Amino acid sequence: MRKIKYKSPDELKLHTDKNRQETAAFLKKLKKKKPKTLDDVVHTLHYEAFDSFSCLDCANCCKTIGPRLTDKDIERLARHLKMKPSAFHEQYVQVDEDNDFVFKEHPCPFLMPDNYCMVYESRPRACREYPHTDRKRFVQILNLSHKNCETCPVVYEVFDELKNGNQNLL
Ligand code: SF4
Ligand code: SF4
Repeated sequence: MRKIKYKSPDELKLHTDKNRQETAAFLKKLKKKKPKTLDDVVHTLHYEAFDSFSCLDCANCCKTIGPRLTDKDIERLARHLKMKPSAFHEQYVQVDEDNDFVFKEHPCPFLMPDNYCMVYESRPRACREYPHTDRKRFVQILNLSHKNCETCPVVYEVFDELKNGNQNLL
């Protein structure tokens, strides 16, 4: 895998748009074939990528998309900040068009200027799991991950490697 360089969401969107049809055709074949090695290949690329690229040089996800929040996330964050969950809710949370709880603001209110997360140990589950390139049954989230190519430089490069690298998936 080539060395990952930071790309802004605008740059990633441009690159993703440029390859959109080619990527969609590739994903269609992947969904049909469901290669047994897909998870292993993606997980290896994930660890290779994060060995050389730090989220602290990026924070695109914290700046532009933000996590979906569960009740447990809200309770844990409120405890971390020594607030009542209702007060936390009032100050930071809104309901989005899908009826999910999300933060009121982007960038995330807990993102610090040096890209550290102020509530890292208590961060929402969705923040822990993003960008999902280490999860099992990756074939189930190919479309979501295609969307994430517009935000995350690691997902963009993982997809590039799946399409153009030496992975023999198809
Ligand atoms: S998960 Fe992806 S988008 Fe988020 S900070 Fe890390 S590299 Fe950037
Ligand atoms: S809670 Fe932390 S990890 Fe999650 S979006 Fe905010 S700054 Fe990023």
